[in-house]
Amino acid sequence: MTLDKRLGQRFLPYGANYLDWSDMSELRHAIEQGVLFRYQTETESMADRLERRVGEQLGAGHVLAVHNCTEALRLALVSTRPRAGDVVYIPAVTFVAVAGAVLSTGLIPVPVDVDESFSLDASLLPPDAQRVVVAHMEGAVAPLPEGVPYVIEDAAQALGAAFPDGRHTGTRGYAGTFSFHHNKILTSGEGGLLVTNDPAAWQVMRCYHDHGSARVPGRYPTWNEGAYYGENFVTSEEVAAIQLQQFRHLDDILAGLERHYAITAQELPGRRDIGLVPRSAGDAKISLRLRLESRELRDAAVARLSTRGVAHWTLGKYFLPEHPVLTSRNSLYADGFPWNLADGVPRAISRDGFARTRSLLDRTLCVPLSPELTEAEQRVAAKTLRQTLESL
Ligand SMILES: *Cc1c(COP(=O)(O)O)cnc(C)c1O
Repeated sequence: MTLDKRLGQRFLPYGANYLDWSDMSELRHAIEQGVLFRYQTETESMADRLERRVGEQLGAGHVLAVHNCTEALRLALVSTRPRAGDVVYIPAVTFVAVAGAVLSTGLIPVPVDVDESFSLDASLLPPDAQRVVVAHMEGAVAPLPEGVPYVIEDAAQALGAAFPDGRHTGTRGYAGTFSFHHNKILTSGEGGLLVTNDPAAWQVMRCYHDHGSARVPGRYPTWNEGAYYGENFVTSEEVAAIQLQQFRHLDDILAGLERHYAITAQELPGRRDIGLVPRSAGDAKISLRLRLESRELRDAAVARLSTRGVAHWTLGKYFLPEHPVLTSRNSLYADGFPWNLADGVPRAISRDGFARTRSLLDRTLCVPLSPELTEAEQRVAAKTLRQTLESL
């Protein structure tokens, strides 16, 4: 494939570039076994292997594979045994799946303003906050609030990132969630993982994700006295097999991102009006975040990058206080559930009506990095970026 073609594909991100028939031994094995249901296999299932591997690699006590990160968030929330209508504080800047997961669990999302790096600003939380979702956006490690009983780390965009103490994102809170959607660091098209260090919580999650049953692999499920209802979030063997293949490449992908981040950051033009937003050492460096002096300059940069075919994105789409799902307070339930329980709950929490966050979002521009490129190729990409920014 020519370099132009490969650079042109930069939007096809990360793990997807490592899908290759010559490297699919786990998937081949799952197909040859002829059993794609995880609780029907004679030997250790692919899903078991995946959960074991993730536990080892991330240092997570207990792991559960599900269909996507939204399910993982729902499962984490419901396992806290909330009352319908309880509040969950979420970042004002994150993917709307977080709000959807909260609402579909019968809870009320309250967006909380974020700091310079778009992480939830824990200093704004009320002292009696019970449930908080923190999102590690674009691989940026967000600090966790202290003294909150249930902190759920949404690490959908931050698989393999690490806190300053070396622990991996997703493993420090009550629970952590990960996504294998096409646009994430590793992919199986769709896919999700839930991790927790709390064995009792894991038992609850495991039951709920399998119809509320106390399943023994290989047998029809059973329900204990006092069983509660559940749903079906059980993953399948072919998906777990692809995720195992993807996990073999995680370290390479993270190292490639690290390398290409350094190459690209070094090439940036020395303009006073275009700055690089610093990243911390443990971030999964899936993108370079640029902060420009004005929205006009940012929009001009977006237009110029588009013309030159340089992949980029902006983050305004993640601003939840103006998202229709939250502003409309609509529901498919005839009584408006769970919004009908939201009387007296604030619509959002911000110091300044989100003025500063809006301004930051309007001036931010992100350039994705491509771990699969060679260093030479990344240098070419970085030069194109520099020339484009210099031409503004
Ligand atoms: C992608 C994403 C999700 C949802 O993940 P799915 O696997 O698509 O359900 C949730 N939160 C964040 C921050 C995401 O980027």
